[in-house]
Parts: sequence; C-alpha cells; structure tokens
Amino acid sequence: MLSIIVCIKQVPDTQKALFDPKTGIIGRNCADNIMNPDDLHAIEMALSIKDMYGAKITTITMGPPQAVDVLNEAYALGVDNCVLISDPRFAGSDSLITSKVLSRAITRLGPFDIIITGCEAIDGNTAHVGFQLSEFLTIPLLTQIHNFQINSGHAIIERLYGHEYQKIQVRLPLLLAISKNTNRVRIPRLYELKTCTDRKIHMMTMDDIGGSDQEYGTAGSPTVVVDTEIFSHKREREVFAGDCSEKADMLIHKLKKHNILKY
Ligand code: FAD
Repeated sequence: MLSIIVCIKQVPDTQKALFDPKTGIIGRNCADNIMNPDDLHAIEMALSIKDMYGAKITTITMGPPQAVDVLNEAYALGVDNCVLISDPRFAGSDSLITSKVLSRAITRLGPFDIIITGCEAIDGNTAHVGFQLSEFLTIPLLTQIHNFQINSGHAIIERLYGHEYQKIQVRLPLLLAISKNTNRVRIPRLYELKTCTDRKIHMMTMDDIGGSDQEYGTAGSPTVVVDTEIFSHKREREVFAGDCSEKADMLIHKLKKHNILKY
C-alpha cells in the first residue's frame, strides 16, 4: 500500500492577526489559529490518491503543543495517522532548520512513497519548506499539479507550465507542493468531527529524531531578521474645481503623473 506523508502547519489567521507595530512580529497569542490554507489542499490531494489507489496517510507538523488542533482536523478529514514534533529546543528555527527537523522525523517514520506539502504558509510566506525538504530527502519535487496518476512505481503527472500542460513521468518517492488552485477541499462528516479528538497523536521530540541542541532552534538557524517594516496605505482626498472637461483633464494629468494612465 502507498505511504503518503502530508506536512501541515498551524498558522495564525492573518486576516485577524495583529502585528506589533514596533517589531513587526505577528501576535500569535491574539490571533485565532487555523490550518494553513494550502495544507488543506495538500490533505485533499492525499485523500484523492487514497481514494484511487489505496494508501496510508500520515500528517506531520512541527509546532507547539496546541498544534494538535490541526492534526485533529486532519483526522476529521480522513487521514490515518498524525505526528506532532514538538520540543522547546526547536524554538527559533528558521525555514532551513524546520525542513531539517521535518526531514529527519520523516526518515524516522520509515519508507514513504509520496510527501505532500502546501506551496506556501500564510504567516512565514517563504515557500521554502517544500524545496528544502526535497533537497534534504534527495527526492524530486513537483509543483503546479493538474492531474496525477500512478502506474507501476511511477507517477504520471500533468502540470501547468506557463500557458501549456507538461506531462512528466517520475519514479516514486517524490514530493508534491500543492496550492489552493489544485482541488476542492472536502467537508468533514459530523461524526468524524465529534470523534477526531479521541484519536492518538504520535509525539516526537529532538531525542527521537537525533542531532544536538546546536543544530536546531536559534543556534542552528542561519537566517537573521535584520529589520521588519509594516506597509501602510494612506488615502489622499483631492477635489478638482472647474467645469466637467477641465476636471476630466486634471484627472487625466494626475493619473499620468502617477503612471496609472500611460498614454
Ligand atoms: P513555507 O515554506 O511557506 O511553507 C510551505 C509548506 O511547508 C506549508 O504549506 C506546509 O506544508 C509545510 N510546512 C511549513 N512549516 C511547517 C511546519 N512547521 N510543520 C509542518 N509542515 C510545515 N516559527 C515558530 O513557530 N516559532 C519560532 O520560534 C520561530 N522562530 C523563527 C526564527 C527565525 C530567525 C526565522 C527566520 C523564522 C522563525 N520562525 C519561527 C518561522 C519558521 O521558521 C517558519 O514558519 C517555518 O520555517 C516555515 O516557513 P514558512 O512559514 O515560510 O513556510
């Protein structure tokens, strides 16, 4: 049976999250936490592969203890197994170290055929993790998936390539990075929602994945955030005086000046 691992991340709902104006850091405690939107589509991709070929789906997340909420949501959607990698020694990990932790945990979980990630998380927004994970695990990564089939140990993938479709045959194991345009997410059944919190979450810490303190967290992370800046949009009100054609001329002049109207 196929073994599929889906990486999911709990993120603050950035529609509601508040940023500290001084530091530019997101106030993770004031915001509602949700599953990263792309990751719902990554789970849906795994479920559709399971529907077609049969598979065991494991979802995995690295995060604080409250990240169990997104794993429970994954159970409600129909995954078979959930893993939470959580350890204070991972605090301050940048995207490279997050990918290293995920790759080591995945290796410990045993052989796999397909790893699925979202393309991008709505809080970090680096879109690094899928690519770095494929490098750590030395497996090919495919994005922009339009159609996915499996035939004797190979995936036959149609992917969007600019204005064309590209058909590719790739040997398993591989990694797929999925965006929200790929599929429509199914709605969990009421019974699954009611019982998902009774399911077992498999826990992993640094002791399970190996390595030393110095490799993880702030100590191991090469990224230094030098500065953050919050963009704000200011509106300016301007009233044009004159008759209709004068006002229209003034408006055209203004729009050209700001490069909005080019000709
Ligand atoms: P992307 O690369 O945009 O995500 C793509 C996909 O990768 C997601 O859709 C998902 O499928 C997968 N993915 C991403 N993150 C995870 C995850 N954690 N588990 C499973 N799958 C995942 N964040 C903290 O929460 N705590 C910290 O203390 C912390 N310290 C940081 C310190 C520094 C210097 C920096 C630069 C970042 C820090 N971060 C911290 C942010 C953290 O590094 C990123 O959130 C994380 O690396 C993922 O990057 P991203 O959000 O850009 O994900």
